[in-house]
Amino acid sequence: MLTYGQARNKVIEQVAKARRPPTSASVSVWDALGLVLAQEVKTDREYPPFDRSTRDGYAVRSKKISPGAGLKCVGEIKAGDTVREALAAGSCVQIMTGAAVPAGADAVVMIEHTQREGDLVRFAQAAQRGQNIVPRGSEARAGQTILTPGTRLGFAELALAAQVGAAALQCAKRPRIAILSTGDEVVLIDKQPGEFQIRNSNSVSLAAQVRIAGGEPVVLGNAADRVEDLGEKIERGLKEDALVLTGGVSMGKYDLVESVLKAMGAEFFFDAVAIRPGKPAVFAVCQGKPVFGLPGNPVSTMVTFELFVAPAIDLLSGSEARPLPLLEARLAEALNERPGLTHFLPAHIEWHGGAPEVKPLKWQGSGDITALGKANCFLVVLGEKEKIGAGEMVSVLLRKDVV
Ligand code: AMP
Ligand code: MG
Repeated sequence: MLTYGQARNKVIEQVAKARRPPTSASVSVWDALGLVLAQEVKTDREYPPFDRSTRDGYAVRSKKISPGAGLKCVGEIKAGDTVREALAAGSCVQIMTGAAVPAGADAVVMIEHTQREGDLVRFAQAAQRGQNIVPRGSEARAGQTILTPGTRLGFAELALAAQVGAAALQCAKRPRIAILSTGDEVVLIDKQPGEFQIRNSNSVSLAAQVRIAGGEPVVLGNAADRVEDLGEKIERGLKEDALVLTGGVSMGKYDLVESVLKAMGAEFFFDAVAIRPGKPAVFAVCQGKPVFGLPGNPVSTMVTFELFVAPAIDLLSGSEARPLPLLEARLAEALNERPGLTHFLPAHIEWHGGAPEVKPLKWQGSGDITALGKANCFLVVLGEKEKIGAGEMVSVLLRKDVV
């Protein structure tokens, strides 16, 4: 059986092979958060466009400044002022943060290190050439590529595009991810379930996870545990960029997803992973499309999506698969889990200064959404270790939707 890391690598390898370059559209920078760039963005001029002061103070010739030196202040330059005149010999000029440093000046002395007596400015210490000045073109040269295709647009990338005047960006269209739940016991969420039925919460959590991962959910509803109904709905799902099914992948008599996919010509890359919850997770490529069969228990569905579907959505967006957001935390109380599988336990992580502390939450197993509603992370207990003492460092997979 594959470890979750091996299974994840299989997904990445196969989706990278099967994917076609995404189509793109022009999107305003105001609306492009989280999209993947499909063009190069180049600078329109030097950055900064002039030698920029990073402090409020005095622009000087550094050679002239020594402890106790005095210079006549001949004016002031504020941010946005046009600066054409060079600094006259033997003088200084008051300058503000973000303003252009005049020719001739090669340093800015912070106002805190000076004393003003009328027109005369006294300096407390020597000045270094270049201090508190960002030279023209030192952040980026004119015409330089600053953003490349495949870049995920976060707030900094959007600011960079805005800075160079790229008000609209060619972005990859979000991959369309079909979501199909299965099971005779599953009813629509706005229906009153019978005593032995359950509402289709998986399609809701999956749609949310698809959105967070950068995809466009296409919710196809629920298929009954019957070959024909499953076949029809899977066929429909394969029209999208990828298909995510829940339920019907365990060993039960009515777990038909794998056999239906097989009959449709799917190539399977795994149908079990050494994890708990989520062990029966399936990954196949069918008619050129990635297909995920996630176990139906809600927490299994959520965990296996994060591990296996999220990186596929990255790739289908024209980007790289982002690493799992794992971090190290101190275990608050001792743990005892069966070895062999890697466990993903609902847990709560807190920061009190120093290393974060993580506490496993009481839960009733992979059907327990109530426990997950109190969790902000999964505690990752690696397969080889049975007992972990309080205070030991453990791995934590953040729920990036709430942390
Ligand atoms: P399965 O993987 O089909 O054996 O399903 C396991 C269990 O997951 C079922 O008994 C249900 O309790 C639950 N389940 C399956 N599908 C859904 C769904 N769409 N929404 C919520 N729970 C589900
Ligand atoms: Mg089922």
